[in-house]
Amino acid sequence: MSTGVIDPGLIDELTGIVGAAHVLHDPEMTVGYSIDWTRRFAGATQLVIRPGDTAETAAVMSALAAAQVPVVPQGGNTGLVGGSVPLVGEAVLSMRRLNICEPVDELASQVTLGAGVTLADAHAHAAASGLSVGVDLAARDSATIGGMVATNAGGINVLRYGAMRAQVVGIEAVLADGTVVSHLAGLEKDNTGYDLGSLLAGSEGTLGIITRVRLRLHPTQPERATALLAFETAADAVSAAAALRRGVASLHALEAVFEEAMALVSEHLGTTPPVGSLGSDPHRSLPDRRTGGTSDSAPGEDGGGAWLIAEAAARTDPSDELGAAVEELADLVVDAAVALDPAARQRLWAFRENVTEAISAAGIPHKLDVTLPAARLAEFVDGVPDVVRATDPDAQPLLFGHLGDGNVHVNVLGPGGAEPADEVDDAVLRYVAELGGSISAEHGIGTAKLSQMHLNRSEAELAAFSAIKRALDPAGLLNPNALLPPVA
Ligand SMILES: Cc1cc2nc3c(=O)[nH]c(=O)nc-3n(C[C@H](O)[C@H](O)[C@H](O)COP(=O)(O)OP(=O)(O)OC[C@H]3O[C@@H](n4cnc5c(N)ncnc54)[C@H](O)[C@@H]3O)c2cc1C
Repeated sequence: MSTGVIDPGLIDELTGIVGAAHVLHDPEMTVGYSIDWTRRFAGATQLVIRPGDTAETAAVMSALAAAQVPVVPQGGNTGLVGGSVPLVGEAVLSMRRLNICEPVDELASQVTLGAGVTLADAHAHAAASGLSVGVDLAARDSATIGGMVATNAGGINVLRYGAMRAQVVGIEAVLADGTVVSHLAGLEKDNTGYDLGSLLAGSEGTLGIITRVRLRLHPTQPERATALLAFETAADAVSAAAALRRGVASLHALEAVFEEAMALVSEHLGTTPPVGSLGSDPHRSLPDRRTGGTSDSAPGEDGGGAWLIAEAAARTDPSDELGAAVEELADLVVDAAVALDPAARQRLWAFRENVTEAISAAGIPHKLDVTLPAARLAEFVDGVPDVVRATDPDAQPLLFGHLGDGNVHVNVLGPGGAEPADEVDDAVLRYVAELGGSISAEHGIGTAKLSQMHLNRSEAELAAFSAIKRALDPAGLLNPNALLPPVA
């Protein structure tokens, strides 16, 4: 395997396949492909290749395999675990030019999309036929369908439609040696052996390069009602979330923002949430990001309030159903705001959708994305700030996430917006595993959580993963530093 100086003969060969405009080797042109969205993971590459279709992707992979050049596939580069960038000099295969949306198959409610189609374009394309893609997330303008399958992306509608894997009814991919495997008929029942779509979903670019995906689509649910609910405690929010899941058939999203994250996003938006209180001083528990000074509150005393965004969506107005369910939560909810028209709903959603951006504007966080069993969720939310501060007393934990799925994003900023101590990650992920949770709910393992895989996966499972990797990529050229230890 070679990450040394790229042979000029290889560059000529690649140029012959994709054209000179799509083989980048000038550092000024490649730098943007070498740093991730969080700015935490940055490397370098001598080579970015941008194929335009499946045949070009196959020819490029065949040439790279012959030259033993390792490669990182890249879509929108919105991944949050350091899996989409070349950290040790790999070539980058940018898939964004594979951006063709084929006509929607309205009879089957399916569509075949190029790997480089953005989620926003996929939504717009499906909507023109009265259908929708079952996955949605805040990075929709950049995240690509190929990257979303490769990470098995989740997002805000998992409780209704499942994650990306559940949307895939067909897949086309290029293997490490340039072989094309294609199974795009989209038959709902098709038990003819291994399901390559399921295998590639969540494989993080380590088993094949996804070139086209056939997605199951869902009827559009145009009528929406959105509620922002404020709670005194995480336990109340968790109880309410369970009741809403049971009681609202049209429930479409159920998101949470906890005290410190709500304070930060409110500051970022220059406003305060319409319901609930951030306390007498909204910044009481925030370390001063300019000086790195510590907070007044003792560890564990500032777990504070919680907010839920509950959205119902249906063919007919779901506001009565949502309103009645919210009324039944009177013992738990401190205050509630309900919005029906798009602008008012968007104002409520802003407190959730802008959290990631607000944190990114404040510094370079460590992003931990975990799932807990429902019975341990509130305990985790209350306990994790202590776990963080026991490891790095100046670190600031910011909690939010997809509460309807038991999924909490634990973002941790260090003093002055710097990164917190590395040990924080291990401490939080061990705590998650102790409580029976998953160390990666939806962002994947990438390079960021490689050393913690053993917390969730047995030696036997990891050996089976490595056997699959060796079978499909014997030389270990595909994203060699993500998800699994490099092939020996
Ligand atoms: C503001 C913001 C909000 C987010 N919200 C969510 C959320 O709610 N839920 C969620 O799950 N994620 C979320 N993410 C993370 C991210 O958007 C997802 O992981 C997304 O699926 C990545 O898609 P991408 O096209 O940007 O992939 P990239 O970041 O380019 O790549 C991600 C991984 O997929 C591999 N890959 C990319 N394309 C291909 C391909 N064609 N074939 C094979 N492998 C490939 C890469 O090698 C890498 O390992 C969010 C990110 C941001 C910035």
